[in-house]
Amino acid sequence: MPKFKLETLAGFVLCHSVALLAFFPWFFSWTGVFLLFLGILLTGVLGLNVGFHRLLTHRGFTCPLWLEHMLAILGTCALQLSPAYWVAIHRRHHHYADEDKDPHSPLKGFLWAHLGWVLVRSGDMKAKTVIDRYARDLMRDPLYAWLERNYMWIVLPFAVWAVVFVAGYGAIALGGGSAHDALQFASSLVVWGCALRIVVVWHNTWAVNSIGHLWGYRNYDTPDDSRNSLLVGIIAGGEGWHNNHHADPNSAKHGHRPGEFDFSWEMIRLMMWLGLATNVSLPTPNLGSKFKTVAKTVST
Ligand SMILES: [Zn+2]
Ligand SMILES: [Zn+2]
Repeated sequence: MPKFKLETLAGFVLCHSVALLAFFPWFFSWTGVFLLFLGILLTGVLGLNVGFHRLLTHRGFTCPLWLEHMLAILGTCALQLSPAYWVAIHRRHHHYADEDKDPHSPLKGFLWAHLGWVLVRSGDMKAKTVIDRYARDLMRDPLYAWLERNYMWIVLPFAVWAVVFVAGYGAIALGGGSAHDALQFASSLVVWGCALRIVVVWHNTWAVNSIGHLWGYRNYDTPDDSRNSLLVGIIAGGEGWHNNHHADPNSAKHGHRPGEFDFSWEMIRLMMWLGLATNVSLPTPNLGSKFKTVAKTVST
């Protein structure tokens, strides 16, 4: 019998249950739908992809500290652990990709790679152990140390739920609406803009770990099983060009070939244009010669 992480399981069930309320028309509003997409952009694309992954984990570019911290706070609102723990787990994934010590290898099956590793306790994956080994640089930053040590990474995302609810309720009530209308509108914002947004971003990120090592094509003959997946490339904002990423982890640009659209890279390009992103790592020239270039498509 697997040993579940009970607190994580509780959060998983809570967010999925509230997100499922989106199927009931009472919880619908277009403002909620707008918040869903805005939230995916802010917490998923900017927070996780650009902030946690390409900046904090791989240092694919540099930016002013205030912006780095802002991206890290946005990523924290995605309720996917603290920046330090997330980074440590991901660095370990690159270190042992598709080996026994990989935190989420599909070697143990799709379900394990997708969400089993999130919910089930496994021996040497305790936060302190993994952070000490892989993310001590982040713990030197007082903000990341604070988020890790004080469970603020849990408080913050749920504080957003409360703020959104109160703002939604207040907007209707102050406009002269009834308590019922205010409650309905505020609930729609929480269901669509908070719970569903968190669940969608969870599965997008987890799909990179599962689908990104199982199905798709390979541009480079890396020692791991990483794949480029059109589906994950689209839903996870460019993170699905995962074989390219394993071949060249420090590059801030994951789409290497025409047609490999990388939305997160476009955000970094925008930051470069604004003068906010510097020392940007681009794909290594002649990367194909480092690995045997794989011409054949494994599957689509
Ligand atoms: Zn990977
Ligand atoms: Zn990575």
